[in-house]
Amino acid sequence: MKRQAWARKGGYPVSAPRPALNLSAPAPTLRPLPPVAAAASAAPGWRKAPPITTWVPLGTDRVRSAREGDEPRTGDESVDHAHENAQITSNFLQRVLKRDSLDGAGGALDNYAHDESIPGNAYWDESGMHYSDGDAVTGMLSKGLDVAAHEMFHGVTSHSAGLNYVGQAGALNESISDVFGTAVEQWHADHKGFRTADGARRGNWQIGEAVMTPGTTGDAVRDMARPGSAYDNPDMGRDVQPGHMRDYLNLPDDVDYGGVHLNSGIPNRAAHEAAQLIGTEKVAKIWYDALTTKLGKDATFEEAAAATTSSARRLYGKGDVPHAVRTAWKAVGLLQNAGRSIPMTPPMTADQLAELMG
Ligand SMILES: [Zn+2]
Repeated sequence: MKRQAWARKGGYPVSAPRPALNLSAPAPTLRPLPPVAAAASAAPGWRKAPPITTWVPLGTDRVRSAREGDEPRTGDESVDHAHENAQITSNFLQRVLKRDSLDGAGGALDNYAHDESIPGNAYWDESGMHYSDGDAVTGMLSKGLDVAAHEMFHGVTSHSAGLNYVGQAGALNESISDVFGTAVEQWHADHKGFRTADGARRGNWQIGEAVMTPGTTGDAVRDMARPGSAYDNPDMGRDVQPGHMRDYLNLPDDVDYGGVHLNSGIPNRAAHEAAQLIGTEKVAKIWYDALTTKLGKDATFEEAAAATTSSARRLYGKGDVPHAVRTAWKAVGLLQNAGRSIPMTPPMTADQLAELMG
């Protein structure tokens, strides 16, 4: 049922709604892609924060504004976390990536708190960022800065490369959101460490650790350093994200849109490996350049590997930085010599995946 609600709404959730393997779900309908925004951020004088509003439900299908712009805290935790995480992410966009809001044109940022349309999840769609207050497994979703930044970067992707939310392009869409989810969190936690390889080694590479099973420490929704090790609990089974192409899960499109929340572990680990060598800030700038100038909507992992290597060369010249990016992708089985690719696992059914997850 949850999956049906998700497919109908067309949102991009932080995790595959549970149960992840509802075969009665309709085929995914992809939203029409919005036009690529004009590069308004290049214009001088845009350094005004985009308008941020956090809304709460008011009866059925109606909302009221709970907090706007620089207004003080409301005391409603769900509202205040959503609002402030949007402010932090907007600041990151401006200061680190020189981008004005999600659309690159100063567009309004709307948060919807106490949104139980997908219980226990958060998602982004054209209307804005939506946060549930949690369920039996997750805590209040708006509490996670990485969750908020993840959702907001679905907006950036939608307004730039427009990666289709299915198969490898969909897993890249998910991975980009995780890369920037963790980048915003690392930047906010440690501005200096964000710039160095040392800082990246100390950095937090888990996604959603603040919201996953609040009573259990150490687990998360995903782990970019060690995909497949984020969680193991009776409600969700165990994390089966691959971290290498030889373990790519060859899933049909009606199972998590072809495993977008699963195969994202492969490009996630490549980003983590690169950051260990060059720091998270350079990874963020390189991945952003590839996302906004090189990747097409049907991009494959191999194309993302080539695009980020090329962006690294463009931004930092020939030498150590593009070499580090190349090394990172090779570590996950991409950019192999002479175009030799690692064979993928045979196609898998939803039942086989469910068995794997336990
Ligand atoms: Zn997502």
